[in-house]
Amino acid sequence: MVLPAALPSPLVTLTDPELAGAGIELRLKRDDLIAPGGISGNKWRKLVPNLRAALAEGHTRLLTFGGAWSHHIHAVAAAAAACGLTSVGVIRGDELADAPRNWSLAEAERNGMELAFVDRRAYRETLAHLDDPATRGRIERRWGRCYVLPEGGSNALAARGTAGLVEELPGLGPRDLVCCPVGTGGTLAGIAAALPAGARAWGVAVLKGAAGYLEDEVARLHRSGWARTFPNWHISHTHHGGGYARLPAALTAFASAFEERHGLAIEPRYVAKMLHCVYDTAPALPRGTRVTAVITGPPHAPATDREGAGPGPAPGRAGAPGPSR
Ligand SMILES: *Cc1c(COP(=O)(O)O)cnc(C)c1O
Repeated sequence: MVLPAALPSPLVTLTDPELAGAGIELRLKRDDLIAPGGISGNKWRKLVPNLRAALAEGHTRLLTFGGAWSHHIHAVAAAAAACGLTSVGVIRGDELADAPRNWSLAEAERNGMELAFVDRRAYRETLAHLDDPATRGRIERRWGRCYVLPEGGSNALAARGTAGLVEELPGLGPRDLVCCPVGTGGTLAGIAAALPAGARAWGVAVLKGAAGYLEDEVARLHRSGWARTFPNWHISHTHHGGGYARLPAALTAFASAFEERHGLAIEPRYVAKMLHCVYDTAPALPRGTRVTAVITGPPHAPATDREGAGPGPAPGRAGAPGPSR
């Protein structure tokens, strides 16, 4: 095992009168418990196959991309440190170079990650041409030989990694929806590709204005990882709450009510938005539907380090991968 993990992660049925009234069964796939205090959730599932590949190819350095609030960035920093690799994080927004670090970036630096802040246009250009030899040449001239992970870590290996969680859900069939939040689409792509016939995958976008873009990303991952596309998934674009960095009052109210009822603190940027969407959508689902919501990660940042509270960029800008930059 490259990174410690307790698998399979727990699968728990939630008792909730609100959902029972709508004839919906909700189960939580507790991937947040894969490695409490360590690299957990979908970051574990996505990074491990890539770490194996990097080590097998003799790499000593990881390089990746993200916004200032990216969970992927600090997960890569921690994973590199745990595997004895060095790491570089290319961060969107050159204006952040001299700003006080938020929790996420401070954590990355604490794990030895070197941060390079680039302006938004250069960042976008680099990512759009990441697989071009010219881009790779520029990266290697600046940073030396390194294993490059795309924004959010979503490549074919990562999607294959998240596909593994479906093997931990026996007995799926036509009444099943497996639900997860969608940042860059790697997690949803892996789940959809691995589902048995009849079951469907349901993604909840956490980015604003990402309709079309995220669907294209998932299809692209399917083509590169499985050489085909799949018809068994869809993405809801109704519960991003105004953008990745935004946590509107209705969302935080939902999250604290959920926390109080079920004694479970939920990560706000992804998991709360997904569950909010599940609860709002439940009355419209066929009675008898069983929803398995993947708790893709634990709450990370201390409550005080939220936009507007801690140091950091303007809400709705930083941290949002995809077209909403
Ligand atoms: C990174 C992250 C996601 C996004 O996953 P994608 O594969 O990029 O769509 C979802 N949930 C949590 C908790 C995350 O940290």
